[in-house]
Amino acid sequence: MTDPVIIPVIPKTELAIITGSANWGLAFPEDIAMPGVRVLARDLSFDTPYGVSDNWKLLEFDASITQDRQSKRALCMYSHGNPRDRIDHSCHQRAFWVLMESGVRHVLSCSTLGAVNKAIQPGDMVINADIIELTQTPYSLLPGRQRFDCSGKQIVCPNCAAVLADTARSLWPSSCRVHGIEQGLVAAHAYGPRLTSPAEALAFRSMGADVINHSIAPEATLSREIGACFVPCAFVTAGFNDYMDRSRGTLLQDGVLPSLSMLASRIALETAIRLPSDSSCGCQELKSPQPEERYIRF
Ligand SMILES: [Zn+2]
Repeated sequence: MTDPVIIPVIPKTELAIITGSANWGLAFPEDIAMPGVRVLARDLSFDTPYGVSDNWKLLEFDASITQDRQSKRALCMYSHGNPRDRIDHSCHQRAFWVLMESGVRHVLSCSTLGAVNKAIQPGDMVINADIIELTQTPYSLLPGRQRFDCSGKQIVCPNCAAVLADTARSLWPSSCRVHGIEQGLVAAHAYGPRLTSPAEALAFRSMGADVINHSIAPEATLSREIGACFVPCAFVTAGFNDYMDRSRGTLLQDGVLPSLSMLASRIALETAIRLPSDSSCGCQELKSPQPEERYIRF
């Protein structure tokens, strides 16, 4: 393998798509072959204060398919697979530094999840309203100490969630459900890569989680830290009974992922195209500067 060529200038974009297990096995967005969606460049690497961030793609949505008839660009990265050759959870810190420098204001993140709420079934899409991650990410990007307040409220953007739900409800199989943000569902974060044990699943459930996701908290927290809206596009590949069934060694239900990954990827792209560019949701004000005396006087 040759060393990556580091691109000195991070392209300016307003939108980021973080791909994950929801798109597993697909080249995203190439395999979706959606008219008007073009990969301008792939295998981009950028330097950051935390090391090099690799495997970026720069996408372009043609003016003919956007809401305001202006072409728009997005940065795209496969977070579960970055870096490609080892597990490194700190990749999110480098990735979101890239997004901050790019000027990203909306982050759409694709993943799969397990349900510990018995009413949520494999194949359902879940747009959770809140998250549980008790360490609140060891990979913070906030500059300095005590310079900013970051709210934990409205961790998922209601306006983006409404667009995603509307898009998903028109495309998702009628045999499955789309659980919208209005249901107030809670996603617990577990870093993985090991899948959650039955005891951990029960622990998260007793803490108030409805679903467990390996790809939600760093993305949500770091989106808040860079002042961006965040929305997760995620569907269920294991239900409560799958977690609890000790008679079989595997967790995930066969067939759910391959049957829905293409559709979820298409929904992610269609949602990304339709995401509102205004800031009326208020997410961007939920990161606020602290008064100067709090960090210069001690
Ligand atoms: Zn928002």
